[in-house]
Amino acid sequence: MKVKSPLEVYKFLPQTNCGECGYDTCMSFAAQIIDRSVKPTDCPPLVEKAKTDKKFEKKLNELIELTSPEVAEVVIGTGESAVKIGGEDVLHRHELTFFNPPPFFFDVWDTLDEAQIDERCKKVVEYRKFYVGDYITLEGIAVRCTSNDPEKFRSVAKKVSEYGKPMILISLNPECMRAALEEVADKKPLIYAATEDNWKDFLQLALEFNVPVTLRSKNLDTLKSMAKTFKDAGVKEIVLDPVTEPLGDGLRGTFERVVQLRRTGILGEDKDVAYPIMVTPIAAWLVEGDEVTKGYWEAVIAGTFIVKYADIMIFRNLEQYTVMPSVILRYNIYTDPRTPVQVEPGLREINSPGPEDPVFITTNFALTYYTVESDLSSNNIKGWLLVLDTEGLGVEVSVAGGQFTAAKVKDLIQQTGIEQKVNHKNLVIPGLAARLQGAIEDETGWSVFVGPMDSGRIKGWLEKNWPPESKE
Ligand code: SF4
Repeated sequence: MKVKSPLEVYKFLPQTNCGECGYDTCMSFAAQIIDRSVKPTDCPPLVEKAKTDKKFEKKLNELIELTSPEVAEVVIGTGESAVKIGGEDVLHRHELTFFNPPPFFFDVWDTLDEAQIDERCKKVVEYRKFYVGDYITLEGIAVRCTSNDPEKFRSVAKKVSEYGKPMILISLNPECMRAALEEVADKKPLIYAATEDNWKDFLQLALEFNVPVTLRSKNLDTLKSMAKTFKDAGVKEIVLDPVTEPLGDGLRGTFERVVQLRRTGILGEDKDVAYPIMVTPIAAWLVEGDEVTKGYWEAVIAGTFIVKYADIMIFRNLEQYTVMPSVILRYNIYTDPRTPVQVEPGLREINSPGPEDPVFITTNFALTYYTVESDLSSNNIKGWLLVLDTEGLGVEVSVAGGQFTAAKVKDLIQQTGIEQKVNHKNLVIPGLAARLQGAIEDETGWSVFVGPMDSGRIKGWLEKNWPPESKE
């Protein structure tokens, strides 16, 4: 995005504060554009005026150009499961945020038997990992043509499409690709890949079927020249694959190519390479060794390029030791550093508590909250959990920073009505908030007990300390 402040965007808007966009003022709409939560075309008066007035048409087009991301955005798939890739504006997450986490595609190949294809597809579709309040899922299936038989590839592509996940179709043979596209082009798969040898046929396929296309070459000049040719011919959705090599100098070279592509795309004036980048951890299966070793290297490659700058990835191994570190790292790299991950403050009932059960308090930092909640639930502890709004900060930081205070605890007790739900006034605070014990007692009139530093030890702590002896 070439504009960085709401004021720069504001100049292009009608400045009437009409509210039709859902925001009270043009300036707040401008702030949302910078935040990428709305687009210039979400301002109805601007769009309407652009239809009849050349001056506004120019303004709208200029604003679209100035606010479009540095790296082009590409959509793979259709409907709710479609994934957006690319669309990034910065090289480093802390400069703004990263926007589109790289979707993970897992391969099936058309010489597998039907049961094996079903087994792999089901694993992809059914994968769910609960993490910090979200279910992490896997995004897509990459169908490889290993038969070199157009009809075989067509039928397997059709079968896989029935699982409803976005697809990558993989074949260097234009005839095989055409057969599969005749069957599933309406699902908007990404086709893989145009190379120096087959690019004319793949250009034709991308245009004819209106699908995104991957360009593949280790030579960045070749990649750039292909990208320019495809763009000039009218292909809008392009993905670049600078070829992933799994080990040694090959891996170093891959890293350098990926970084150079992204740096040029974002910092340089060369928009011919400002497209999403594909990295293929599946290349680890070229490494000597057993399946566990290959899966290990797959996770290593994935980790490297989740951090720098893969926009889409293809994997083979569906075992947790490859998938779990990759999805968790991706989750964390792609959280928005401007907004701490947080949950709603308030009162939670854990395991249907009664009036005699303990009252705990924690913060609304999602990682803290879910750790405490899970430690209480999984240990079958009945209790009431007060969740304090600490602006998404953890216990230690919020106590030091003044977001976890006795006055706020008092307010929370009143707002949640906890006093009417229990027959005692005993509050267990986290060990890391011990220094607030006296202040909370003074402010609330409750007896405050300092729990363990680690919520995993609450069960043992309760066995020794609950019910508490009266402090009076
Ligand atoms: S709809 Fe357009 S003109 Fe109206 S307030 Fe929003 S940005 Fe301003």
